[in-house]
Amino acid sequence: MGDLNLKEKWEQVLSNLEKKLSKPTIKTWFNNVEPDMFFNGVLKIKVPNKLVKNWLENKFHIILLKTIKEVLPEAKNIEYIIQESSIRKKTIIRRTTFQQKLTIFEVSPSTNLNPKYRFENFVVGSNNELAFAAAQGVVNSPGEKFNPLFIYGGVGLGKTHLLQAIGNEIIRKYGINKKVRYSTTEQFTNELINTLKNQNIDEFRQKFREVDVLILDDVHFLSGKNKSQEELFHTFNELYNNKKQIVFSSDRPPKMIQDIEERLKSRFEGGLVIDITPPDFETRLAILKVKNQEKSYYLSDEILEIIAEKITKNIRELEGALNFVAFKISRLNNYNKEKVEEILKEYLKENLKKISYKKIIKTVADFYNFKDEDLIKKLRKKEIIKPRQVLIYLLREIGKLSYTTIGEILNKRDHTTILYSYEKIEKEIKEDFNFYQEIELLKNKILND
Ligand code: ADP
Ligand code: MG
Repeated sequence: MGDLNLKEKWEQVLSNLEKKLSKPTIKTWFNNVEPDMFFNGVLKIKVPNKLVKNWLENKFHIILLKTIKEVLPEAKNIEYIIQESSIRKKTIIRRTTFQQKLTIFEVSPSTNLNPKYRFENFVVGSNNELAFAAAQGVVNSPGEKFNPLFIYGGVGLGKTHLLQAIGNEIIRKYGINKKVRYSTTEQFTNELINTLKNQNIDEFRQKFREVDVLILDDVHFLSGKNKSQEELFHTFNELYNNKKQIVFSSDRPPKMIQDIEERLKSRFEGGLVIDITPPDFETRLAILKVKNQEKSYYLSDEILEIIAEKITKNIRELEGALNFVAFKISRLNNYNKEKVEEILKEYLKENLKKISYKKIIKTVADFYNFKDEDLIKKLRKKEIIKPRQVLIYLLREIGKLSYTTIGEILNKRDHTTILYSYEKIEKEIKEDFNFYQEIELLKNKILND
């Protein structure tokens, strides 16, 4: 029997099989199965791996043989041969082992950059294309075009990735001709404190002022830190006057950073300010595909689509979900769409469980620059009323606590007070877009930091 003929027969087998098994089952187990030859009543079929072989032999043998007989009445038996082709490898639905590539990226001591963050593995979508273009502009003419470049956006949306990619690309492009230093604002602040203790401010200044490109991540961290703000202000001026490139990131636009000097704010706004927003479905899917390949998970597009559909908030969570699903699936013998959805539910629940009400209190307190206790105590300062209402709102929204419990936590306030606060914030969110963004930001911080 000719090859072509056999292929056609096999198509017929699959189509008959569709009447007996669900589509996902067929897609999962027969996607990369092909007929090899038919001889002496034995149909040899090629399967991509051992897992599929076992599965077909143990679970589907009878039904498969029966279906084959409908098309090839002379068939008596089936033989399964494992054959991994290079094309197949890419489309294998699942792997039997969970394996994460063991590439270890080392942070360079001279630049403090991590080489894993590159432009090449940064997926560009409508949510970040402007930021990406600006980042490339900076690489092409450091210190000349967009200075400073200020990128802001919620947690886990790729700010650090993009900032570090700028640094890595500049090193690649200019080599020793450009001195780059990346630092988180937290590192900057801690180093400054140590410097002041040990009285070696010159060394510190050398480190941050004698560079061609300074990249400072998460500058919202400067809020309320006067010494660091002052030092950064002078660092900025020195660099800027010498036409050195400066890149900042923050979780909010300069205007919304609280407790920060006006003169520093205006420096932040003096160049190009661009935001990164949460990715849309297509971008999420594209990111998953890249990560799926980077990590050699070989999950099917179908699974990736389910993940992209369900995990919408940010990319860190998206990556976490991908890892979780890959791990869970590697331990299963069988799965379908429902199972993947179940795994994702479990993932989201695990994530949620970690949020204690203490974390919510701490995040809100930090955000508005109060102490945790101040929000809880029956303090009647005017400035604290609003943050406290926000806290109540979030304890309810994210903490899922009852009004009574929230009342207990907040120093035995009665539950009508709590309800009033909740409703007030709820109303305001609908009326004031800036305030809505502020609450979204807080939610993001609580859920992802
Ligand atoms: P942020 O600094 O905004 O909190 P990160 O840069 O740390 O976010 O990003 C979180 C994770 O998501 C990182 O592992 C990063 O590599 C990945 N990531 C973010 N954006 C993208 C993107 N556009 N393409 C590929 N990976 C991304
Ligand atoms: Mg970051």
